[in-house]
Amino acid sequence: AAACCQKKAGEVLGRGPPPPLPPPPAVDFSDAREAFRSKSSAELARGLLVLRLCAIGPLVERAEQLMHLSQKLLGRRLFEALMKLTFYGQFVAGEDQEAIKPLIQHNRAYGVGSVLDYSVEEDLTTEEAEKKEMDSCTSAFEKETGKQREKRYSVHRKFGDRRDGVISARTYFYADEAKCDRHMETFLKCIEASGGSSEDGFSAIKLTALGRPQFLLQFSEVLVKWGRFFHLLAAEQGKAGLAALETRLEVEKLQEALAKLGIATKAESQHWFTGEKLGVSGTVDLLDWNSLIDARTEISKLLLVPNMKTGQLEPLLAHFTEEEEKQMKRMLQRMDVLAKKAVRTGVRLMVDAEQTYFQPAISRLTLEMQRKFNREKLRAPPTCHRPGSLHQNAYDNVTVDVELSRREGWHFGAKLVRGAYMEQERSRAAEVGYEDPINATYEHTSEMYHRCLDYILEEIRHSRRANVMVASHNKDTVEFTLRRMASLGLHPAENKVYFGQLLGMCDQITFPLGQAGFPVYKYVPYGPVNEVLPYLARRAQENKGFLARAKEEQDLLWAELKRRFCSGTLLSAPGLP
Ligand SMILES: Cc1cc2nc3c(=O)[nH]c(=O)nc-3n(C[C@H](O)[C@H](O)[C@H](O)COP(=O)(O)OP(=O)(O)OC[C@H]3O[C@@H](n4cnc5c(N)ncnc54)[C@H](O)[C@@H]3O)c2cc1C
Repeated sequence: AAACCQKKAGEVLGRGPPPPLPPPPAVDFSDAREAFRSKSSAELARGLLVLRLCAIGPLVERAEQLMHLSQKLLGRRLFEALMKLTFYGQFVAGEDQEAIKPLIQHNRAYGVGSVLDYSVEEDLTTEEAEKKEMDSCTSAFEKETGKQREKRYSVHRKFGDRRDGVISARTYFYADEAKCDRHMETFLKCIEASGGSSEDGFSAIKLTALGRPQFLLQFSEVLVKWGRFFHLLAAEQGKAGLAALETRLEVEKLQEALAKLGIATKAESQHWFTGEKLGVSGTVDLLDWNSLIDARTEISKLLLVPNMKTGQLEPLLAHFTEEEEKQMKRMLQRMDVLAKKAVRTGVRLMVDAEQTYFQPAISRLTLEMQRKFNREKLRAPPTCHRPGSLHQNAYDNVTVDVELSRREGWHFGAKLVRGAYMEQERSRAAEVGYEDPINATYEHTSEMYHRCLDYILEEIRHSRRANVMVASHNKDTVEFTLRRMASLGLHPAENKVYFGQLLGMCDQITFPLGQAGFPVYKYVPYGPVNEVLPYLARRAQENKGFLARAKEEQDLLWAELKRRFCSGTLLSAPGLP
């Protein structure tokens, strides 16, 4: 969109095409002076102290209990002061929208934007969390009949506390509709704060905060079963094992198969595959197929799929009570309210990736928002960023969604993350008994990350419409992106490729990028001290988990403190932007 604006301006003034952009500067991640130019020496010392504390295993493992104990022993005020000098000061921007403004503006001056993330979490016991999860993930129909969904998409008490083993994300539990409304109000305030504090802000939202998780489970199961059925039909046509977008079913044979299975007569399925639902040369691909369960059509209510185990046909959608229908609609309405507010305030929404059993629904609902709101052409569009968590089928999902955006003419946006739920997901799959959804090794995860990223970068080069946030602390991944941007001719000033790191982590990656003119953002958590303690405990654990990276950061902090001491600038204010 930026390139398109420039061309038009040049043409109107009759000055021909704009001059080419100057080559972007090289970025050096090992230059401590440049990395910490925006920081006071006190901030560097705090960073060093916090990283050192994070390396003490027993302290980190019991971080939350220790924080609660110190709160009792020291009293509220002293405890808050201590936290502000250490963990809270390092990882959280402030108590509310007003308090965080100076930090946001300071970072902005050094080229670093903000993704605001209100980080207050309920302090539930494991038993309370499990009970809430069991209640909110079971439908009235299931309670009545005792019928269960597929294991992966059913709730399991042992894994009901979704906070278990998660270090990079906040967790919401459903209580009632009023609480979801309160979450929506919080997100609205967050969007307002993003709009008020910068011109190019993002606001993070989480779909499990906006409605009953039962719907996300049910909808995920529907999407996955429908996709699986497509691949089953493809195998019957001798097209097993092809990449998602290369699998095309012949309509004649498809209709025959559907009739043979008793799903729809040829006459009934005739109108399914006509006009826009019929792809290249009379074939049906996964996108055409998925459009049959489009939320905007009624057809999904009629769809049947074969149960692989029993061989029986089953309705794709489960029965909903009237109240459940209303709850589902309210969840969609809340998303709509948030997206409209984001458009009005010029803020882009960033939807968090969550567990694999919720993720198909989250991705699909985000895609619906992108379809509706990412159509604007002449300025960077308020974008709903689709979460891309790096699970085994991530590449297929990304390619299919990009292709849909091409066909329908909207702007594709994605935040790519390696995923925060690995351990929890692996033990759930092993214990409950389904295939591990996580890539087999760290190397596979990284390979998948780079493959998905490369595909989106190619798309940006081709159409200049898509955009992506590389949300990672991994230096190799950031360097890989910079290399690919250079070789594909993607200039940072086009604002198509963003980088993202968490506040208080890996400043040596964030600030050199920002100072060199690359669009880079900090995830900026905020909230009152004693309400973000669970978040702080997880930050400590994450830093302990990545010892090599933390060591590199400590070395750089130490080097810069020594340099300032030797040059007599230890007490000077941070350098100019
Ligand atoms: C701006 C930002 C936004 C984020 N938003 C989200 C979000 O919405 N949802 C979410 O889930 N997370 C989110 N995260 C967290 C993210 O998923 C990662 O957990 C975290 O950032 C570490 O990944 P990395 O690329 O920074 O580091 P790396 O050290 O390169 O990668 C660590 C990650 O690799 C994967 N991994 C590690 N070991 C293995 C193994 N043996 N086999 C397979 N995979 C392995 C895991 O996913 C682990 O978290 C976000 C992070 C950032 C910076």
